[in-house]
Amino acid sequence: RAKARGRRSHCFFEPEMDAQLKARRALEVNLRAAYERRQFELHYQPWVDLRSGAVNGFEALLRWTDPERGPVSPAEFIPIAENIGLIVPLGEWVLAQACADAARWPDTIKIAINLSPVQFRSGDIVQTVRSVIETSGIDPARIELEITETVLLEDNASNLATLHALRDLGVRIAMDDFGTGYSSIGYLRRFPFDKIKIDRSFVSELPHDIDCLTITRGVAELAAGLGMSTIAEGIETIEQQEILRAIGCTLGQGYLFGKAMPAVDADALLQKSRTVAA
Ligand code: C2E
Ligand code: MG
Ligand code: MG
Ligand code: MG
Repeated sequence: RAKARGRRSHCFFEPEMDAQLKARRALEVNLRAAYERRQFELHYQPWVDLRSGAVNGFEALLRWTDPERGPVSPAEFIPIAENIGLIVPLGEWVLAQACADAARWPDTIKIAINLSPVQFRSGDIVQTVRSVIETSGIDPARIELEITETVLLEDNASNLATLHALRDLGVRIAMDDFGTGYSSIGYLRRFPFDKIKIDRSFVSELPHDIDCLTITRGVAELAAGLGMSTIAEGIETIEQQEILRAIGCTLGQGYLFGKAMPAVDADALLQKSRTVAA
């Protein structure tokens, strides 16, 4: 009977689906192994003050090379890590590593770290952040935690309480990818973010798309009125940089200023700008 059932369930899968499932399982196994072997890397993408052009901080971005497939985008492997529960320990490593690297940088340079909603809900995120602050010794005001609207979409009191508890540790909270998904202006009332990250999908249509321009200007004004700063993601051209500065966007991040780079290169970049300034 088992044999018959086995055959039947096998027939259920289309061959391509079977291959997809196998690839997915392989990725899961390789991700777990990579975590055990400490094979993840953090790269750092600079962001600048749009008025002065000075580097103001770096966003930590995970990098992973699958032994079979080569480099895999975090957009692909983060959801898998979330699914298999790996994101919680991996996210702790990201927090610790990013703060350890940032500890070498000047006090004026901030570090932005992405938090997965799964990590956020995991229960001990506040304790984790507190212990990372203690271990690294960096000023918590230099740490920015990036969350997405999913965290607020769930609309439960405990998520809001977690945000306030994190804020009470002295860290800053940024809303990532604003304007995508279901983000609502109401969120800005429910929680006072320190910073709004305007999603790249708006920035990439500038300056040609008038609607994007209007929305971006509106978000920048709204944020300023609420005492939040704004950062535009994905700036690739000087034209975009100039228009964003003109409409009152405070900060900018994107390939125009630099791609995410290994920690040693971020160190060198800061070293260089310090010698130039001196
Ligand atoms: P995100 O947090 O919105 O990060 C910005 C993404 O835009 C990064 O992609 C960055 O490389 C890319 N980007 C920046 N400037 C430009 C530009 O000028 N042009 C273009 N085309 N792209 C630009 P990346 O590194 O592939 O990361 C994708 C997403 O994966 C991130 O989006 C974030 O949601 C997630 N992610 C990355 N690292 C982590 C992490 O440590 N933890 C968690 N939970 N998520 C992470
Ligand atoms: Mg981010
Ligand atoms: Mg983003
Ligand atoms: Mg994004």
